[in-house]
Amino acid sequence: MKAAGPVAFDPRLLERWGGQGPRYTSYPTVPEWTTAFGEAEQRAALERASRRASEPLSLYVHIPFCESLCLYCGCTVQITRRADLVEHYLEALELEIERAAGLLGARRSVAQMHWGGGTPTHLSSQQIRRLFGALAREFQLLPGAELSLEVHPHVTRKEQIETLADLGFNRVSMGVQDTDPGVQAAVARHQTAEETQALIEHCRQLGFGGVNVDLMYGLPRQNEATFAATLDHVAQWKPDRLALYGYAHVPWLKPFQKALESQALPDPALRTRLFCQALERLGQAGYEVVGLDHFALRSDTLHQALREDRLHRNFMGYATHPCEDMLALGMSAISEIDGCFFQNEPTTRDYEQRIRSGGLAAHRGLQRTPEDNLRRAAILDLMCRMRLDLDELELRTGRHDLGSHFAAEWERLRPLAADGLVELTARRAVVTPLGRLFLRPIAMCFDEYLQARQARAGTFSQTV
Ligand code: SF4
Repeated sequence: MKAAGPVAFDPRLLERWGGQGPRYTSYPTVPEWTTAFGEAEQRAALERASRRASEPLSLYVHIPFCESLCLYCGCTVQITRRADLVEHYLEALELEIERAAGLLGARRSVAQMHWGGGTPTHLSSQQIRRLFGALAREFQLLPGAELSLEVHPHVTRKEQIETLADLGFNRVSMGVQDTDPGVQAAVARHQTAEETQALIEHCRQLGFGGVNVDLMYGLPRQNEATFAATLDHVAQWKPDRLALYGYAHVPWLKPFQKALESQALPDPALRTRLFCQALERLGQAGYEVVGLDHFALRSDTLHQALREDRLHRNFMGYATHPCEDMLALGMSAISEIDGCFFQNEPTTRDYEQRIRSGGLAAHRGLQRTPEDNLRRAAILDLMCRMRLDLDELELRTGRHDLGSHFAAEWERLRPLAADGLVELTARRAVVTPLGRLFLRPIAMCFDEYLQARQARAGTFSQTV
């Protein structure tokens, strides 16, 4: 796998390929799922998955709580400072862990675990130990497993990080977005550059193998000068891995985002300049594009996985462990088990009620068809291996007709090839280093639900 160094970027590409599109953390994507697919199917999938006892799992645990609401937030959160709500939620989580593990029988080994949110460090050290203990009682965390979580530097105390290190967590992901105080005031997220730096240094002293930082462009009051300062901070901190997200303004889904409309949201031209500025500065600082919106130093495990053809993609985004099955626990959490997707109830109230009444908590889901599996494989190849080779895919799937089966998709790739995003031959599509920034429109060529979804305008955020 050839690595992508700094890429020359023509801003006009954003106009052509920066439209709306899914992120393909699943295929078929969430809007295709149905509430008719629920607990009975969830149980059956877990029982089928139990037959592959030796295959490791990925675990995801959703901690929805935050102390205050950041106005750009796109996550499923519950804002609270009430300790009793957190305790009730942990009780339900413990029940769900036991119940799901019971259905998985002897299938208990875990190669990767991630706690997301919300703010997982909303939990006290004692609560972190309690939750970890409940998971470790039921599952066997394999030696070398990646244990990661999201932390909010403003609310995370040093002793919580010490607890996490003691338990074996080895990667932290820090939301930063922008270090400028004016931008932070506009989005109601307060976090000084100094406290972020101090937390990164503390994690490194405690031996965390990886530090990720999330940045966001397109936020109110951002301009080239403020963003230059943010990028300089990041270059100084030198996290191993970075995510650079475009702010998705979707007030019809997140009504509180409306408050940002009076706060000088960047227009599309400024968004483009901010994105280009980040590309250039991150390239100078030694980061290379991994795919979509991820950047990494060459020493980071994500970059190694890219070079060695081991990248995988699931609901956590890019992953270095290719576990096919991911068990996700907690409200709104999304599992991928034995060819099915399930999302738990999207509110803590409904989630806890379902779990306390003795069941599981699936609210909607989908079982993939053979055609879905074929297209999913093509999309994963493009997004993780940065190529789609029809000979390779035919070998893996036992099919002999993919040239004709994907003839229309190949035609859809031609304009992307003309713009230098894909190198196209009769049987192979190879994503160029520049094309790694446009993986969504490339993958969209293989999404047969897309026509119907495009009719539902506004379902997805910008592709870049
Ligand atoms: S800390 Fe993260 S999850 Fe919580 S409100 Fe802010 S952006 Fe959303």
